[in-house]
Amino acid sequence: MPMDTTRTILSPSAAAETVLAFVNTRAIDGSREQLGDGAAFAQWLRLEGLTGPGVLVTHADAAAARELRDALVLVLLAHAGEEDDEGRARAEEYLRRSARLYPLAPVVTASGVQLLPTGDGVPGALAHVLAAASDVALRGAWMRLKACRNPPCHLGFYDRSRNSSAAYCSPNRCGAQVAMRTYRTRKAQEE
Ligand SMILES: [Zn+2]
Repeated sequence: MPMDTTRTILSPSAAAETVLAFVNTRAIDGSREQLGDGAAFAQWLRLEGLTGPGVLVTHADAAAARELRDALVLVLLAHAGEEDDEGRARAEEYLRRSARLYPLAPVVTASGVQLLPTGDGVPGALAHVLAAASDVALRGAWMRLKACRNPPCHLGFYDRSRNSSAAYCSPNRCGAQVAMRTYRTRKAQEE
């Protein structure tokens, strides 16, 4: 299936891009799972400039990163209108624990306050993702970071619509797929 270029939505800030880069490491639409094991995660961290060379990245680190990613995807799905209270509560509990595992410290300057990771290595890198999420939220744009509600997709995207009502990464692709599925189900029930 050809890639739909309309899915490449530019986000307004580097912080939003950091969160999206992290949640979109899943194998989406034929792409490779980028947090599959320690080596893959290490490569992703270096490409994103989140760790230097020589940082040891284990399979357990990759598993922890995937758990954090799953929790963030559930929160972004909630932003897109997914009504999964149980999943959202589980994700929020996980993120609460992540705050203790990957701590941030406020650094106050004359021009403002920045939340910065206190650790380095993998915990510091995951804290960087949480710092980016905090930054997006503090700018008032958290609800616009969403995950596509089409179940096989779940691509993270920034909703630029005027009334912040987008539920799918692309109306032409995922929106149309869901509409077609709903139509077929309804038709099958009628027959
Ligand atoms: Zn989608």
